[in-house]
Amino acid sequence: MMPRRFVIVGGGTAGWLAALMISHEAKRGNLNWDVTVIESSRLGTIGVGEGTTAVFRQMLQRLGLDEMAFLQQTGATIKYGIRHRDWRSLGHSYDGPIDDPHQGVGLGGKDNILDDYAVAHGQSAGKLHLFQHLIDAGRAPYALGPKGYVPAGPFHHAFHFDQALAGQFLRRNAKDIKLIDDEVDTLLQDEDGNITTLQLASGQHVNGDFFIDCTGFRRRLIGQMGSTWVSYANVLPLNRAMPFWLDIPEGREIAPVTTAWAQKNGWIWMIPTQGRMGCGYVYSDAHTSVDAAKAEIEAVLGHEIHPRNDIKIDAGRLDASWRGNCVALGLASSFLEPLEATSIHGTIVQLTLLLSVLAQPSPRARDAFNAAAARQVDDFRDFIRLHYVSQRRDSAFWRDVATSHPSAVTDKIAAWAGRVPRPSDFTPFAMGLPHVGHELTVPVLDGLGLLSQTAAQDYLAANPKARSMAREISAVLTADYRRAAAQCLPHRAFLTQLQQEPAL
Ligand SMILES: Cc1cc2nc3c(=O)[nH]c(=O)nc-3n(C[C@H](O)[C@H](O)[C@H](O)COP(=O)(O)OP(=O)(O)OC[C@H]3O[C@@H](n4cnc5c(N)ncnc54)[C@H](O)[C@@H]3O)c2cc1C
Repeated sequence: MMPRRFVIVGGGTAGWLAALMISHEAKRGNLNWDVTVIESSRLGTIGVGEGTTAVFRQMLQRLGLDEMAFLQQTGATIKYGIRHRDWRSLGHSYDGPIDDPHQGVGLGGKDNILDDYAVAHGQSAGKLHLFQHLIDAGRAPYALGPKGYVPAGPFHHAFHFDQALAGQFLRRNAKDIKLIDDEVDTLLQDEDGNITTLQLASGQHVNGDFFIDCTGFRRRLIGQMGSTWVSYANVLPLNRAMPFWLDIPEGREIAPVTTAWAQKNGWIWMIPTQGRMGCGYVYSDAHTSVDAAKAEIEAVLGHEIHPRNDIKIDAGRLDASWRGNCVALGLASSFLEPLEATSIHGTIVQLTLLLSVLAQPSPRARDAFNAAAARQVDDFRDFIRLHYVSQRRDSAFWRDVATSHPSAVTDKIAAWAGRVPRPSDFTPFAMGLPHVGHELTVPVLDGLGLLSQTAAQDYLAANPKARSMAREISAVLTADYRRAAAQCLPHRAFLTQLQQEPAL
């Protein structure tokens, strides 16, 4: 029997994730599937995208790829969350750890008495997160035991990496996948509009049954299939990104956290890998120019920078990522400023959804996929915009932002000013896959000063049983997490030790 032919166009992170996950599914399900990747070394990849969420580690595990080999071969570092500098006001900083303290303490996510307890006592909600303690101590997520590395806790951490090295790692581990280095020139479609053949620049024809568009901002396939771009420019006004690199001084501890540092016209990301700090200024060109943005960053850092690029970005998503026999993933499908590292996360989650129906695609499955993909990006958009609810008014940018928050954000803030968010405030995502929930939202609201101490105190006063339970659990968790963090290896020492071990 002829195999079912999957053709992935694009060899960036999205393309190789798709190739690996589809071929893994084929092996797992003993399916007669054939996977081809067409990539263009002439066009290259976007060359940025360095912070992940926890789903990247879950994906490595699912594919049977060793985390230690990944760290060793890609020069990646550990990420526990995001440090937000100067967002609430100049000089203020808060962390957004990505683990969920409500997992594993027997509350079943039903109530959030721990958050109420922290807010009522004027403590940072982050203290209830193991990852906050690991951030504070600058530690790796492993202690060294007699039999090897012992994890500090049950939670999945994330990584910072060099996009090119991570791409090479994925590609090296992609077995039984055909690779063509060429450019898609023309799409041939049948009378229903489905793609039958791709004609490449070299003249070669590639036939397929199902096509995945991972061509990044070019959207080479899905554009022709008729999908259109839904712009978020009215909600997320930043529209340029200027990436640059900084050195990490030899011997200095590597912070296991992404820094998102708010500026006069946007914000800078600072992402440490083992070899360097990947940085970039995401800014609004309605408020500053390319030259002025560069000068602004140089003044803040106190030295010259050498921008690698200046990328025009357009936040938004496709109206439908799946049309006919073509699905767009990665940058071809959506783009948001990388404040919460949602892009690679979104790709992995969407691939998981896709794989659940790929054996028997149907119009119903397609519509459900499109609705879930749209909801995912829309919710991320509003979550990102929430970060801009700031007291800052020190530039035209911040003054404009302050008067233009959408009601999707202000309505929630108004509701949560009266009570700390409950898990039940967030609709579960398709297949129970990770999504914006209260564990991500509470540290941001708390960090921005948008939660009411009085409301939390009133809630606990009305629920004395919950209050005493919260007191006990909070004390135990905080002590346990602090102790666990102290036993772990320092982050840099852990990474150095891994590099000295035989090649994995
Ligand atoms: C400024 C910025 C910062 C970011 N930071 C983060 C972050 O911290 N965390 C995160 O998760 N994500 C981040 N992202 C997003 C992240 O970069 C992408 O999700 C990720 O790199 C995947 O990109 P991609 O594979 O979709 O596209 P690309 O990397 O652009 O790859 C596109 C591929 O398609 C190929 N191609 C294009 N046209 C053709 C054609 N006609 N024929 C054949 N091949 C073709 C190209 O050669 C390339 O191989 C960031 C993005 C930007 C712009």
